[in-house]
Amino acid sequence: MNSKILIIAGSDPSGGAGLQADIKTAQCHGVYSSAIISCLTAQNTQKVTSIHNPPISFLRSQLTTIFEDIKFDAIKIGMLGTRDIIEEVAHNLNKYAKNTPVILDPVIAATSGDLLLKENAIGSLKENLISNSLITTPNIDEAKILSGVEINSLADMKKAAQIIKIFGAKNVLVKGGHLSSLDGKIKSVLLDEKDDFYIITNKRIEVGSIHGTGCTLASAITCNISKGHDVLTSVRLANKFVYRGIKAGIKIGKGSLVLNLK
Ligand code: PLP
Repeated sequence: MNSKILIIAGSDPSGGAGLQADIKTAQCHGVYSSAIISCLTAQNTQKVTSIHNPPISFLRSQLTTIFEDIKFDAIKIGMLGTRDIIEEVAHNLNKYAKNTPVILDPVIAATSGDLLLKENAIGSLKENLISNSLITTPNIDEAKILSGVEINSLADMKKAAQIIKIFGAKNVLVKGGHLSSLDGKIKSVLLDEKDDFYIITNKRIEVGSIHGTGCTLASAITCNISKGHDVLTSVRLANKFVYRGIKAGIKIGKGSLVLNLK
């Protein structure tokens, strides 16, 4: 049987990021996905115009109803939005899915600059979710906010990864896409369970602004973990999947491109 993942993420109705990108990614990997909506955004390829958080009691119903029925091979967590949502998700993971690997994309802001997590929720994210994750995958801005390290180099990325690991993540992947070019290349840093560093390097593709790379990467990693790959292999394969998606990126609206997932 195919492996099964659970996606807990925000909805992006443009389909480039969020839950919609996660489901497409799972489909491309031949992995079955269930999906719980944590919150809803109104957004297009240019901006986020509003965010709606369904009542916590409804989030709880989704989580309990799903967990009472289905056991997953891996769980991907994306945008959560508020402290209450984080705490509800964490409580149910503890109750029902303690031994299921969690891949956490600590979504704080969109590429457009719009804030996707309330500032007062960052402490809770560290304490309740980063602490229990198999892999946490911050981009440069998120790594700066989470670690307090100013990041301008590979050495800074490594330092930030070490600090984020102290919060309890078993592995930390600091994604380098938002850092201005290091020799025309994008370099991401993986700090693994044994405290070894791996540098994952890509040629930078000059496509301008592109939307949904973080969500897609984290869900591709989740699919690979669900199939039984180790962390380094899962990250490497996911990195190639996102690279191909960016290379074939498409313009669907007036703003940023979206990945073309195959
Ligand atoms: N919308 C939702 C629901 C998301 O989860 C995310 C990122 O995780 C975004 C938008 C932003 O994606 P990007 O930063 O690629 O624009």
